[in-house]
Amino acid sequence: MATKRDYYEILGVNRNASADEIKKAYRQMAIKYHPDKNPDNKEAEEKFKEAAEAYEILSDSDKRNRYDKFGHAGVQGQQGFGGGGMSMEDIFEHFGDIFGGAGSPFDSFFGGGGRSGSRRRTFKGSDLRVKVQLTLKDIAHGVSKKIKVKKSVSCNTCGGSGAKDRNSFRSCSACGGSGQVKRATNTFLGQMYTTSTCTSCNGEGQIISAQCGNCRGDGRVMGEEVIDIKVPAGVTDGVQLAVNGKGNAAPRGGVPGDLIVAIEEKEDPNLKREGTNVVYDLYLNFADVALGTQVEVPTIDGKAKISIPAGTQGGKVFRLRNKGVPELNAYGRGDQLIHVNIWVPSKMSTEEKKALENLKKSPNFNPDPDHSEEGIFDKVREMFK
Ligand SMILES: [Zn+2]
Ligand SMILES: [Zn+2]
Repeated sequence: MATKRDYYEILGVNRNASADEIKKAYRQMAIKYHPDKNPDNKEAEEKFKEAAEAYEILSDSDKRNRYDKFGHAGVQGQQGFGGGGMSMEDIFEHFGDIFGGAGSPFDSFFGGGGRSGSRRRTFKGSDLRVKVQLTLKDIAHGVSKKIKVKKSVSCNTCGGSGAKDRNSFRSCSACGGSGQVKRATNTFLGQMYTTSTCTSCNGEGQIISAQCGNCRGDGRVMGEEVIDIKVPAGVTDGVQLAVNGKGNAAPRGGVPGDLIVAIEEKEDPNLKREGTNVVYDLYLNFADVALGTQVEVPTIDGKAKISIPAGTQGGKVFRLRNKGVPELNAYGRGDQLIHVNIWVPSKMSTEEKKALENLKKSPNFNPDPDHSEEGIFDKVREMFK
């Protein structure tokens, strides 16, 4: 195969041409090399195809980017509508709207030209939206949820066709079942065809002569479905997941919509999420931090016992490794941070007050921050779950 020509060169535009300029250039090429104007001219046909390929790449900003960066290698297999090479039919099908300007003498250029009835209208069902509330535990490990949704489902009686039985269809006579009607017009370039949606069958290509009694010809009924939703670990509040084809059914056997699942994070009574970490506020009384103690703290995976060393200051943060949540699509988890707060009583008995008055005078009770331990972060060992 000969070396491929540069796409910009093929269309005769420079490398920073705007989308409009590219469209205009392709339009001119397509008119020049159109097979109707160049009957039985192999070279014109090749040029026509070459221009379509260049236009396919350069009219798509993503593909154009890759082509600019890596040349033909960057769009290998992208051109030719999936790599299978472009037929004239493909070109008409994909770029037919290039001459879509109203009143243009070339409006009909890419109109019909012997395409078969593959453009029958099919309907698409609407998307369905649901919210799912997740706990921190669900988010940390990922979760499968079964949810029941009310939605329109395909009618069982008629299999979604909308017809009473298999003899209740007839092919639309106005369009011969193609869903499209072709009209010939004479232009200075010869006879051209325009196509439009058939009004007799609404583009569906067939007409139902007797409707299904259950859905009245619609092909759908209201129903419900239990749907399995797999939520990956690490999602955040507001993330939306799409479950393909699980939305509302479409009329008469069309393509169902999608189920869109919006994630809501349920507030945890103890733990606050900060990115991949979770934060826990631990309140201890003065005697416990002074003497050291063992306490139980809640974690995402249940309770954990930790030791608080004697002499722990208020404001200290202990870290439990891997007790946070993961990032979406990543390994590992964040940590749980335990903030130490010292509880100061607001009400005291006379004896309590007296005891404190005595302690107050002791030299060890005078604040001496310069000699306290350094570093606000500390690791604690988890004793058991
Ligand atoms: Zn029709
Ligand atoms: Zn039905």
